[in-house]
Amino acid sequence: MSKFLNKKLFHYLFVFLFLNSALLPVKSSSALAAWVLKANGVLELRTKSNTNLKAYFQKANQIYGDRFWVDFPGELKNPRRIKGNGPIKEIRLGKPDKGKTRLVIEFKEETFLSPLTWRMIGLDQNRWRIKLFTPKYSFNKIGEGIVENRKTNFKANKKSSYIKKRVNDYLQLPDVKRNTFSVVIDPGHGGTDPGAIGIGGMREADVVLEVSKIVEKLLSEKGIKVRLTRNKEVDLDLPPRVSFANNLDADIFVSIHANASIGKKRNINGLETFYFRGGRGRLLATRIQKQILRVSPGSPDRGVKHGRFYVIKNTKMPAALVEIGFLTGRLDARRLEKTAHRKRIAYAIAKGILEYFSKLG
Ligand SMILES: [Zn+2]
Repeated sequence: MSKFLNKKLFHYLFVFLFLNSALLPVKSSSALAAWVLKANGVLELRTKSNTNLKAYFQKANQIYGDRFWVDFPGELKNPRRIKGNGPIKEIRLGKPDKGKTRLVIEFKEETFLSPLTWRMIGLDQNRWRIKLFTPKYSFNKIGEGIVENRKTNFKANKKSSYIKKRVNDYLQLPDVKRNTFSVVIDPGHGGTDPGAIGIGGMREADVVLEVSKIVEKLLSEKGIKVRLTRNKEVDLDLPPRVSFANNLDADIFVSIHANASIGKKRNINGLETFYFRGGRGRLLATRIQKQILRVSPGSPDRGVKHGRFYVIKNTKMPAALVEIGFLTGRLDARRLEKTAHRKRIAYAIAKGILEYFSKLG
């Protein structure tokens, strides 16, 4: 879409009334590549790039009904007539002069038209659109060829199926043996400690609590025993978080945080996951990092790192501390302020954890 906007190729071609065309003795194939008159009365054209079009309208006379036509450079190979329906009597593709192509739309007598308001809009270098009548007339579309810009269309389709695939992919959480594993999720900060304060006053403590609750729900549905170190806005010191996990003898401990950059630099974004002990702790961090990156396209991968944070250093079980983005970063903050993205992040963390367990067998 941005590519389309960047081109800013909106240009208009007003319809001339009774204007005579200048003869252009161009000997080349027709610049008209495809056309369609849609049920809503919009005519769309695809032409060769940078084609000069001329459009005309003529009131009905004894021979013809109201006619609208467009002349294109280049010669049409096969002149043809196509029977109309609804307000359209007939559509003709002709060769009014050597080296030219003319697309004529002839209307039925009773059709109400307001050609003075018509204008042909250039959608991009080779596509055009003009609204000829209102949808009050029932009309079955008529056309030849594919008007949509083929390249763009192909790309767009590819992209949408790609996104679709990715969405389904991450929504699909792997199964693990039920009632076997236990997890402690630790939403960072809370209560009088808001953690990082981001753009628009977004508080880390709130963001990570919402994400943690969703992770809890997702893992519980997979038959995992999940406990949160805090499930509301309470101030909880670090030692009780650790002793809580150690006393439960949980299989893993995952602390969820969001970052802030010094000086609140808006261009600093990214995700990172820490472990203290290598081996399983590192494996857990790696699984989580991989998944959160997948739902955060464009946000930098700051890596899986060794970190000496109290909660991952002092818990007995494999532990990871994940930073789900910078609340001070423009890109990350815009996403993290939305519940939809918090859900995606939660899915990703849950998936990382489930993959970790399925790896263990
Ligand atoms: Zn934090």
